[in-house]
Amino acid sequence: MENSKIRYISTRGDREKVTASAAIIEGLAPDRGLYVPDSIPALPCGPEGFAGMPYRAVAKKIIGSFLSDFTDDELIECAGQAYDAKFDTPLVAPVVKTGRAFFLELWHGQTAAFKDMALSILPWLLKTAVKKEGEDKKIAVLTATSGDTGKAALAGFADVSGTEVFVFYPKEGVSVVQERQMLTQTGRNVHIYGIRGNFDEAQTGVKDVFNDLSLAGELAARGVRLSSANSINIGRLVPQIAYYVYAYANLLAAGEIKSGEKVNICVPTGNFGNILSAWYAKQMGLPVARLICASNENNVLTDFMNTGVYDKRREFIITSSPSMDILVSSNLERLLWHLAGGESGLINSLMSSFENEGFYDPGEEIKSALCDFYGGCAKMPESHAALAKLWREEKYLIDTHTAVAYAVYLDYIAKTGDETKTLIASTASPYKFAGSVAGAIGTEVGADEFRTIENLNRDTGVPVPESLSGLDRKPVLHENVIEKTEIRAAVERGL
Ligand SMILES: *Cc1c(COP(=O)(O)O)cnc(C)c1O
Repeated sequence: MENSKIRYISTRGDREKVTASAAIIEGLAPDRGLYVPDSIPALPCGPEGFAGMPYRAVAKKIIGSFLSDFTDDELIECAGQAYDAKFDTPLVAPVVKTGRAFFLELWHGQTAAFKDMALSILPWLLKTAVKKEGEDKKIAVLTATSGDTGKAALAGFADVSGTEVFVFYPKEGVSVVQERQMLTQTGRNVHIYGIRGNFDEAQTGVKDVFNDLSLAGELAARGVRLSSANSINIGRLVPQIAYYVYAYANLLAAGEIKSGEKVNICVPTGNFGNILSAWYAKQMGLPVARLICASNENNVLTDFMNTGVYDKRREFIITSSPSMDILVSSNLERLLWHLAGGESGLINSLMSSFENEGFYDPGEEIKSALCDFYGGCAKMPESHAALAKLWREEKYLIDTHTAVAYAVYLDYIAKTGDETKTLIASTASPYKFAGSVAGAIGTEVGADEFRTIENLNRDTGVPVPESLSGLDRKPVLHENVIEKTEIRAAVERGL
């Protein structure tokens, strides 16, 4: 295979490079940095070459370009296991033209949100990696979630042999539906904890457990090693590149764009994983003009794109797009590393400034390298209005996260007059955030979220994803709530 030499290196150190398999197993690098590819492969063929290919074949090719130690057979097996009838459409990730944009629907998997795109394949990649590296320990997958990752990780890893999966979510920071999806998860190896704190605190708590050397030693003695299903794991990011290539090829095949025509990609952003995957696609040679980074009220990234300074010292605001309620966008560290030409010294000093003072300023060079990006934010009144308008005018219903992206996009075209065709990443089914969606379009909110789903379905006729219908009748199987300081103990207990 071409690109047979891509290796992975930590953003924080000049440590030796490792294989893709080792990076996927480790999750976070030992120096607390994130693994990045030491070079970005070119697309294995022009975008035309992908037209008409089934999703799993595109995924196999794109993922294979990055995971160069995986064999073709292994990749075919992983992609085939992941992108199958678990998705409610054979297209897996359909593109819908409506309003002023093309919506790339990434929520047709098991949990009705875009995390399924990567988390349906990550368990298979991890299993294969373990086999390739001759790793004999059981893998405990630790995940902090703002709602959607948790269920997708649980669904992906449930009963996968050789793994235990632990999910930590902010008890008051996820939707009723998200929480119920997690708490009804079956499987012998699943562990779910509500944390008293917000998502950033849950994420920091989990990172602290990763960095706890005494725990790592104790677990190693018990035959266990830790890994992560968060987007700090490179095995989460790489599969996400595939759907941008797939969507572009579909636009070509449908005659919506001409060969070589550049498109914008607009992404409702939280931890910066999804949009970073779009940036990787652009670096591979996909014709992409602007990457539009859309934020809600927690608009740290908007300010960063506009000023070049990342500053989390502000109030954390709970919004109707909870998966974007994030002040610490972990994957930005990867972009900075690439833009800084792999200079880990700079990354180290930025990250220690961030830990000590809550902000960092990477300087003019990085600021000017951000020109591929446009940062915008939309508050709830604007995003709900955009959602309502799209429903009223086009009878197309989007969720509250996608609505943030759509509102930012409408604002972007009003301000710039840019007529470049634009793909908007649609990251969740509207039913996953039914209360807010109902409120936005004037549907009566029910006594609980589940009645609201029924009302929304009655009023709009939009079908309810199978994974969400009947959810309120499934038994609740988990009910642990802990302090953020108790994450380590919960892991020790659960193994
Ligand atoms: C996770 C998530 C996001 C944010 O994606 P990042 O990769 O963290 O930037 C946006 N919308 C939904 C519905 C999500 O679940």
